[in-house]
Amino acid sequence: MPCTKEKLLIVDDEPAIRSLMTLLLTEIGYCVRCAQDGFSALRELRKEIPDILLSDLNMPSMSGFELLSVVRRRFPSIMVIAMSASFSGNEVPSGVAADAFYQKGSSMAALLHMIGALQFMERRGPLPSSFAAPLQIQWDERGTSGEACVTIACPECLRTFPQALDGSRGREQETNCTYCGSAIQCSVVEHPYRMPQRISQRRADAKISAQRASAVGD
Ligand SMILES: [Zn+2]
Repeated sequence: MPCTKEKLLIVDDEPAIRSLMTLLLTEIGYCVRCAQDGFSALRELRKEIPDILLSDLNMPSMSGFELLSVVRRRFPSIMVIAMSASFSGNEVPSGVAADAFYQKGSSMAALLHMIGALQFMERRGPLPSSFAAPLQIQWDERGTSGEACVTIACPECLRTFPQALDGSRGREQETNCTYCGSAIQCSVVEHPYRMPQRISQRRADAKISAQRASAVGD
């Protein structure tokens, strides 16, 4: 089916969710691209700006929390749907820079309705001051084999670069992008809202699979 609707970028670390959502949304005319985490999403954003970004919140490397805060700063016109199995209900969780929230595992028909409704929603301006600074940089325990360092995504040029940690985790610091020189205020945090288990994710996947048939049949 040719692309007749909005351009979407789906960001999720679960391959099954990416392929399922791509299949479903492409079938009904959306133009879909995918990324597996925040960093690859930034690479996709540098190629082409989507109309709507759908992002999981809990991802390795660069979480949805970080990604959405960069997107809201740099591309306030992109409509954003945050997705997670760690929060319930329809309200955007506090601290998440998104226009809508989809609870993973709930009805796919509800997600389609949400995507459709975004075009009638007022486009937001730049981040409110509560999001303005600093960027939250995710501390990834798996990156600690050698020298402790984090990866920072520049909100200006969207490139990423490694930054050695000086033991100041949790404290605000300023650094400069190694590519464009922009000053970046950031603070290194433990993975926000780290999901204690992958089981709930798998449950959500299974539920989405089960619901897809009914959503397609609508
Ligand atoms: Zn930069």
